[in-house]
Amino acid sequence: HIVNAYVKPYAIFDEVMRKEYIDHSQILFEYAQAIEHGEIEVYYQPIVDTITQTVVAAEALVRWNHPEHGFIRPDIFVPVLEKHGHITQLDQYVLEMVSQKLLERSQKNQIIVPVAINLSWMDLYDEKMRYAILQKINHSSVLKKHLRFETTETAFNTMENLCKDYLDEIRKSGCKIVLDDFGSGYSSFSMIQNFRFDILKLDMGFIKKIELNLDTRSIVRAIIAMCHEMSIQVVAEGVETETEYEFLQVHGCDYIQGYYFARPMPEADFYQYLEEQKKSIKKRETYLHLFS
Ligand code: C2E
Ligand code: MG
Ligand code: MG
Ligand code: MG
Repeated sequence: HIVNAYVKPYAIFDEVMRKEYIDHSQILFEYAQAIEHGEIEVYYQPIVDTITQTVVAAEALVRWNHPEHGFIRPDIFVPVLEKHGHITQLDQYVLEMVSQKLLERSQKNQIIVPVAINLSWMDLYDEKMRYAILQKINHSSVLKKHLRFETTETAFNTMENLCKDYLDEIRKSGCKIVLDDFGSGYSSFSMIQNFRFDILKLDMGFIKKIELNLDTRSIVRAIIAMCHEMSIQVVAEGVETETEYEFLQVHGCDYIQGYYFARPMPEADFYQYLEEQKKSIKKRETYLHLFS
């Protein structure tokens, strides 16, 4: 289908990201310089409309291209930076990079879609980060419309009211809030009841079991139905097979994110991909128009 046509060999980077043990102190020692040296790169993974199969949004996923270790997975360095209180600096850099690109393209009248940024629970305690976000969205309607913020239930467990107010403030300014990895930890219904968000991401753990587990299918259907009753949209994460995709489509899941459609890719490739899509949609429309 449309999207897979543009998948390129760099996808292989994902596989070769080394899994070897990297010393925590080395990560802590090197990450600040890594930002300065341009080793930190923001990748974009397309989020696809389930029905039209077009790319309607993206998630920003950080990559560290280490001179010695190659690509280091965020699963390795994000927890280390979190543990030692340095994650906010990195997230602020990602916010900066994503925003700059959105503004630059919008000024040139080039196509853009909303981009979701991952917020660590730590960011929600950081006044500088809060200021950086509000400053951006309150001074630019482009950013207000095109930035989204993802956070996991961990944040909601640790913080209660403080983070709730933080996210409410962002939401009131007009940005969409995404609840990430729903179902992976101690997801509770009281949390869904007490915190307002716009989009729920079904954790990959559910998606992996759709093919084999009847109970999982019931749970996924029920979560989608519940969200829709609450006007919350649903994204399925980690969709890798046609069977998973078809199940989610039949049961009304709004959006799909996963290797089945596209892997996270460098910024330039993502935007090229959007351009190609725009062209092919235009072509299709002209074609249909000829016969109508
Ligand atoms: P996440 O926010 O839940 O991001 C989704 C993860 O699932 C990404 O892993 C993505 O590459 C992966 N994924 C997407 N589709 C598939 C699929 O079909 N199959 C499989 N096996 N995996 C898929 P990634 O990029 O390695 O990131 C891991 C986690 O690191 C993220 O989970 C997020 O919690 C964290 N992270 C990434 N970038 C940032 C960032 O800029 N800031 C913060 N605070 N955390 C980040
Ligand atoms: Mg995420
Ligand atoms: Mg997730
Ligand atoms: Mg995650």
